[in-house]
Amino acid sequence: MPMMHVRVNPEKCQGHARCIAAVPEIFEEDEQGHSFARDEQVPADLVDAVRLAEQNCPELAIDVTDD
Ligand code: SF4
Repeated sequence: MPMMHVRVNPEKCQGHARCIAAVPEIFEEDEQGHSFARDEQVPADLVDAVRLAEQNCPELAIDVTDD
């Protein structure tokens, strides 16, 4: 069964923190105010929320892969 992985591209992230507000279980703020994915492997119950965060990131900084 494929697992979803997520990462935040630090080159693109501008730190709006939308993803952190939406899925605090996955996204966290670093010292610069940018987001990173705490656990790159997404638990099944958070897959939909992470996809929504990906779609709502204004910088298209969230990369999701299924593998
Ligand atoms: S929503 Fe996008 S730009 Fe904003 S903190 Fe999250 S990854 Fe960064």
